[in-house]
Amino acid sequence: MRSESADLLQRGAQALGLEVIDQLPAFGRLLELLREGNTRLNLTALKTEEDIVLKHFVDSLTCLRGAYLEGALAVLDLGAGAGFPTFPLALVRPKLRFTPVDSTRKKIDFVRETASQLGLDQVTPLVGRAESLGQDAEHRGKYDRVVVRAVASLPVLAELALPLLREGGLLVAQKGNITAEELNAGRRAAGEVGGKVQVVDPFELPILGDARTLIVIEKHRPTPSKYPRREGVPTAQPLFWTPPPRQAR
Ligand code: SAH
Repeated sequence: MRSESADLLQRGAQALGLEVIDQLPAFGRLLELLREGNTRLNLTALKTEEDIVLKHFVDSLTCLRGAYLEGALAVLDLGAGAGFPTFPLALVRPKLRFTPVDSTRKKIDFVRETASQLGLDQVTPLVGRAESLGQDAEHRGKYDRVVVRAVASLPVLAELALPLLREGGLLVAQKGNITAEELNAGRRAAGEVGGKVQVVDPFELPILGDARTLIVIEKHRPTPSKYPRREGVPTAQPLFWTPPPRQAR
């Protein structure tokens, strides 16, 4: 990693109250693997070092705001893609045990290979869809936390994530700007699947200043067995929510 990029990473982390000096070599290796994987697999739209450092690494680390991810917890990363937020979080919080899940096999193959290259034994990648895992006794109710970045609207996330949590577990969703309508639908959806929105924490991404919101939903009772509905239904017919039509380009 270039020294300018290492500086950015350190400044971004410091803005979040984190020290990453010991992890700089590992972040550098992650950057290399990501760029190499990207030319083969087209994993992420972000190509420059600066973009990857700020919009993947620092952005992922913002999930640590509010200290909902401290201690030896079982964490499922729902829709982890090329491994975000899993990798940055696993590098700075080695006690967390991660299950990054994605429905795309080539992405999870990359995550598995990268975890092994980085020596991250506490990362156990899994190919699958949240709708199926949520109805699978091996995974339903088994996680202390679900983290998610950039996957779906809040009502969809509530339906996909809450079944996977134990009672008392938390969904930690990192999003961009969230409209009052989406938040409102998310609150109602959370109630329907056994949860409650506990925290809505708007903030700015360090250095770039882009708007972000960390939303925390606590599971306080079991999720009714009909949730999650079958594959594709949570997204096609989100609970309490009609998604805005896609903007014509
Ligand atoms: N969290 C990553 C990737 C975001 S892209 C990041 O922040 O960079 C969204 C990813 O979610 C895609 O890779 C897609 O395959 C996955 N995904 C979407 N719906 C899913 C579902 N129901 N189950 C599992 N993975 C899903």
